[in-house]
Amino acid sequence: MSWLTDYVRPRIPGFSAKKKEVPDDLWTSCPSCQQMIYAPLLSETHRCCPHCEHHMRMPMLERFALLFDDGQFERIDIPSVAADPLKFKDLKRYGDRLKDAQTKTGEKDSLGAAHGLMGGREVVVAIMNFAFMGGSMGMAMGETFVKAAEKAIEAKAPFIIFTASGGARMQEGILSLMQMPRTTVALQMVKEAGLPYLVVLTDPTTGGVSASFAMLGDLTLAEPGAQIGFAGKRVIKQTTGEDLPDGFQTAEFLQERGIIDVVVARKDMKDKLVQLLSLLLGDALLELPSPEEVPGERLPDVAAEEGSQDATSDDAATEAKDA
Ligand SMILES: [Zn+2]
Repeated sequence: MSWLTDYVRPRIPGFSAKKKEVPDDLWTSCPSCQQMIYAPLLSETHRCCPHCEHHMRMPMLERFALLFDDGQFERIDIPSVAADPLKFKDLKRYGDRLKDAQTKTGEKDSLGAAHGLMGGREVVVAIMNFAFMGGSMGMAMGETFVKAAEKAIEAKAPFIIFTASGGARMQEGILSLMQMPRTTVALQMVKEAGLPYLVVLTDPTTGGVSASFAMLGDLTLAEPGAQIGFAGKRVIKQTTGEDLPDGFQTAEFLQERGIIDVVVARKDMKDKLVQLLSLLLGDALLELPSPEEVPGERLPDVAAEEGSQDATSDDAATEAKDA
């Protein structure tokens, strides 16, 4: 052997072995702009691409933590329902699919609910988990929704839902479709109690969910770029035989046409919800300066004659105390 093989060879395996220590999932690519993203950075940006701000899907628990003050919240128990009432089987038994999804996500079903403080105000938040069988709506989702609505009424708290769903869970047949009127009745109870119900549409919100409680909010918000619709683009194109415009079924497209009130970036979502609740519940009136504080000349007798100004601020003060 020459001096070269004796000297150089042993160093080469040592050098290549070191390289393998880099974990596989350290980098990920953005599905929108295809740029590489350093994965740990995504938790800082709340799963938004740092290059193009594309909003990726967000795990349910991360979203709860982002919304509640100091990330503190209490989960609302998911009621038990009859599993696989139709004994449905396609390629796999429905009961087995359900168990797989539960093992994979650590959740009982596709809707989670929690209560806690948001901007110092008690709220009930429900979040749909797309990772659990595509966020499909079955009996368990309906039960959880009703339970969350009841909690909101009991605590006199606003009810907020973040939707993400492929639609009704076909394996439960008509029982899944019955959740559409059930959730609507539960919402009627929330509205009769005089409590706000806000909807935040996230990617994707389709099918039976978009045809029921997702479109019944007092205000409808959405995340940028979210796909929202009833039937998919391909089905509509085949049925109507027409070419669909660019951006069809996106949050921005629907905002322009008045179906969505406002599209809000994820990083600003909590502040926007706090602000909207404050406006809806009337306590924002307290932040207006009193007439005495407003500089400039004013007509002294107008407020006294109408007698409305004092009544308004008194009402606002009472409401704020109650809240
Ligand atoms: Zn991107």
